[in-house]
Amino acid sequence: MTTRSETQTTLTHLLTEIEHRNPAQPEFHQAAHEVLETLAPVVAARPEYAEPGLIERLVEPERQVIFRVPWQDDQGRVHVNRGFRVEFNSALGPYKGGLRFHPSVNLGVIKFLGFEQIFKNALTGLGIGGGKGGSDFDPHGRSDAEVMRFCQSFMTELYRHIGEHTDVPAGDIGVGGREIGYLFGQYRRITNRWEAGVLTGKGQGWGGSLIRPEATGYGNVLFAAAMMRERGEDLEGQTAVVSGSGNVAIYTIEKLAALGANAITCSDSSGYVVDEKGIDLDLLKQIKEVERGRVDAYAERRGASARFVAGGSVWDVPADLALPSATQNELNEADAETLIRNGVKAVSEGANMPTTPEAVHLLQKAGVAFGPGKAANAGGVAVSALEMAQNHARTAWTAQRVEEELAAIMTSIHSTCHDTAERYGAPGDYVTGANIAGFERVADAMLAQGVI
Ligand code: GLU
Repeated sequence: MTTRSETQTTLTHLLTEIEHRNPAQPEFHQAAHEVLETLAPVVAARPEYAEPGLIERLVEPERQVIFRVPWQDDQGRVHVNRGFRVEFNSALGPYKGGLRFHPSVNLGVIKFLGFEQIFKNALTGLGIGGGKGGSDFDPHGRSDAEVMRFCQSFMTELYRHIGEHTDVPAGDIGVGGREIGYLFGQYRRITNRWEAGVLTGKGQGWGGSLIRPEATGYGNVLFAAAMMRERGEDLEGQTAVVSGSGNVAIYTIEKLAALGANAITCSDSSGYVVDEKGIDLDLLKQIKEVERGRVDAYAERRGASARFVAGGSVWDVPADLALPSATQNELNEADAETLIRNGVKAVSEGANMPTTPEAVHLLQKAGVAFGPGKAANAGGVAVSALEMAQNHARTAWTAQRVEEELAAIMTSIHSTCHDTAERYGAPGDYVTGANIAGFERVADAMLAQGVI
């Protein structure tokens, strides 16, 4: 029987090896660190997990595809972007995970997202493997016609790697209903198949699921509510700072309001808005979803209760809850100190890895309830799996049915993480609970399926 400290030494060696084998991929190193650092208790307790090669296989993607995406802008100029799809782990089901279109995308970013997705998807219990993809294409300021041409070129390569039983992409930053539509159209044209289950996040009239757009934000609020219940509180009357102003942020704000809490901020890369009366969702949706504008327009049109702060940190705004819903590493150590000083009770991650490791450590040490993204934001991919189920059965569920399923899934993820943390001697530590519970499911399937 190996001891915990021997196991920790082995895992630390493995992390050094990961850094050597994957140079210049800091986000992937960070994601691997975060998981491997918490696995010592489970690997020490269950000797089968110490089997040589198991964790080495887990940190190596099954397949990585990188391709050229040439496209022409409205003036006829040719642009060349890079496309990625990292098919990380399919022990539990077809690869599943979104596509991100953002200039910051590179292989290391897609690998970090794909790695996180393995554990997140395992936690849903819905039989989906982990993958992620995207491009360094920037859709901001591009016309619909340009976005369409880009999506068509991207799919002209991607189609050969995906399929309802193989790999099922969806949206992420920069990829919403419009992009999924263009991607689905091109897939259908190339393959001559009406294969609904090849992509999720589709429109409602053509295979999409009700509540899929809302699911990540709604799910995160349900997770935050479950963490608060553990502390003997509910969301009624609590104030919340939310970052971002995309799909996740918008539906986080909506669900907070539905449960009696008040979200007073949103943000984008130019700065943030504080609205003392609470964010007016109709106005925010009009600006972001219809006009595809920036958040400063919100402050201009909202009147006296709102102000726009250029630059700066949204985490400077005092509130009971913080729900980072923008992007990775957006909440650092200094931000965590400010939040703690301002009496924050819970931080729940709507984005993927938005809190730096140092900040997570500080928040946990200060007794703040912390919900890691791979548990807290799993509602989006969970409803994607429900979309796949509806597609397979050639049926469409009511919004009420999808919402009930989502709520049950989030409750179950919360209790799984909570109970697992307790079982492994880390009560209240949802990071450890999520990592170990996700790991157990994937590792058991990998061991059962042999060395592949
Ligand atoms: N991009 C989302 C995530 O980070 C959703 C992925 C999906 O629906 O496949 O989980």
